[in-house]
Amino acid sequence: MTDAQQFASDNYAGICPEAWQAMDRANRGSASAYGDDDWTQRASDAFRDLFETECEVFFAFNGTAANSLALASLCQSYHSVICSAQAHVETDECGAPEFFSNGSKLLVAPTESGKLDPQAIRKLATGRADIHFPKPRVVTITQPTETGQVYTVAEVQALSAVCRELGLRLHMDGARFAHACATLGCRPADITWRAGVDVLCFGGTKNGMAVGEAVLFFDPALAQDFDYRCKQAGQLASKMRFLSAPWVGLLESGAWLSNAEHGNACADRLAAAVADLPGVDLMFPVEANAVFLTAPDTVLDGLRARGWRFYTFIGGGARFMFAWDADPARVDALIADLRAVAGDAGADAFACAAA
Ligand SMILES: *Cc1c(COP(=O)(O)O)cnc(C)c1O
Repeated sequence: MTDAQQFASDNYAGICPEAWQAMDRANRGSASAYGDDDWTQRASDAFRDLFETECEVFFAFNGTAANSLALASLCQSYHSVICSAQAHVETDECGAPEFFSNGSKLLVAPTESGKLDPQAIRKLATGRADIHFPKPRVVTITQPTETGQVYTVAEVQALSAVCRELGLRLHMDGARFAHACATLGCRPADITWRAGVDVLCFGGTKNGMAVGEAVLFFDPALAQDFDYRCKQAGQLASKMRFLSAPWVGLLESGAWLSNAEHGNACADRLAAAVADLPGVDLMFPVEANAVFLTAPDTVLDGLRARGWRFYTFIGGGARFMFAWDADPARVDALIADLRAVAGDAGADAFACAAA
């Protein structure tokens, strides 16, 4: 039995047909273990085709592991990693980046929108240069950010320029990387290695897979021994083909992009529909598959009373996330309910003012 669709998280979605069918094909018969199989080879090659470069590709179970191990591979324990205050690595990974790097400290930049800018990096990276401070070594950015903003190619180029100047590596948390590509309409290479990104964590889970993220090293030297790091961290899948085959399904069919385009379009649909609603405002520009709304408590309570689930852990606003499977009719039902409760709240306010 399934409940009516909710948009509280893009992780509520199931597995998309392309990923599912590839897993089904991988399930016919046996194959070599630990990544020494055709599916894993084919998925790695599909990434190299998509990114137009001979990158090193690894598969992890989730984004926390992918980010943490990637960052750990870029620095020593006495180094530090610059990130935004809203970064998932800072707020939602339970200290895993510090744990897997044996203590590399996260240096948190206060940012308005969750986007890092060159000045913030320069300030943190050059503020202290003495032996007592953990030496800045890596910058990590989230593309799109946790609140759904997308870095342009020029913005990533500007960040990587300051990284190069200051001797810093650039990591990209791309848990929703496909959604950023859908928005930018650019080649994946242009927003990553051609713009100076050293390592990308490409999210599969929020792109339609059951589970799995890919870690792409654009400088093969940085990938040295990363397979051992994965194994030690419990991230080497013995039946690797079930982690890699869904990528073959997503990448070879183009579903990786169409899934993201669909999620983004649903977010745009909601954002456009609330533009004229009194008291209901967008907290952030809608540039990917997330919509954050501020609204009076009466409106949010009214939505909950009508059965809608959503998170309000960022600034008290309501977050709605749209995955590959978002049903436009359900988006319209949400819009209709939002209009109804916001209209009631507006009428109440009017009645109060008139009284
Ligand atoms: C979802 C997400 C991740 C990965 O989270 P896991 O639960 O560990 O898979 C990483 N970064 C961002 C920005 C995310 O939204």
